[in-house]
Amino acid sequence: MTRLANIINIVNLRDVIDILIVAVLIYFVLKLIRNTRAEQVFKGVLLILLFIKISQFFQLYTVNWVFSRFINDGIVAIIVLFQPEIRRGLQYLGLTSNIKNNFGQNKKVVPESVEEIISAVGSLARQKIGALIVIENQVGLSEVIETGTEINGKVSSGLLINIFIPNTPLHDGAVIIKGSQIKAAACFLPLSDNQKISKLLGTRHRAGIGISEKSDCLSIMVSEENGSISTAQNGVISRYLDLETLETKLMELYSPDFLTNPLISKMRGKNEED
Ligand code: ATP
Ligand code: MG
Repeated sequence: MTRLANIINIVNLRDVIDILIVAVLIYFVLKLIRNTRAEQVFKGVLLILLFIKISQFFQLYTVNWVFSRFINDGIVAIIVLFQPEIRRGLQYLGLTSNIKNNFGQNKKVVPESVEEIISAVGSLARQKIGALIVIENQVGLSEVIETGTEINGKVSSGLLINIFIPNTPLHDGAVIIKGSQIKAAACFLPLSDNQKISKLLGTRHRAGIGISEKSDCLSIMVSEENGSISTAQNGVISRYLDLETLETKLMELYSPDFLTNPLISKMRGKNEED
């Protein structure tokens, strides 16, 4: 009893806060990596740590040396392996401080652009003209814009439809929209390497998902095979959408609800299509 009392005497408020912060951090890391590639690696690291302890206990020095090397050099390997995830995580951390500054600015310009985009996507879908439109959000897409042809024109249904007419110079690739501007067309997007994506989806859909894994954009895909409309956000594809749902998604992109969305769900790539 006296020992317990002693411990309670030593522990002060600062220690409690210290432990709480570490506990919360560990909780978020675990939540973040659940069902991702990182989960397997995390389990692997725990296993190696266990081997190190066991080999220490049995005084197996060579085994101990090998596993210790794994841990030391492994840090570099993990950084290389998880470069996309680390980059995305840091981008979102930077993003929270950015949101407040850019938010109102984006919101003002959008309602009329939403109407134009909806009208264009509806028309493209009815005519089964393939299209890929990326709406930039808080994370800048200038690297992608540079791969295409700059347009810097006001978003209009007519211009969007025109860009995607087959066998015209700009129809191949993605259009990037920022606020009320069509920034560029015929842009090349990174393809998603998510193994869970249906094999039935081709490169247009993979490209739309790919850019949504690397930024907080909204990608809109119109299939030339069946005229269906899909969107991708945070690496998640939603398929067979009607125009009302698309409109809701576009409006949400700029609504304050975005601020209350848990950051975690944005950083984790999940697939709801299968
Ligand atoms: P659809 O349902 O329209 O056929 P899909 O997902 O099956 O789409 P593909 O048939 O392979 O995809 O579509 C090819 C078109 O997708 C290309 O002509 C090009 O316009 C676009 N595309 C493919 N890869 C990229 C990329 N990396 N970046 C931008 N656009 C791309
Ligand atoms: Mg196809």
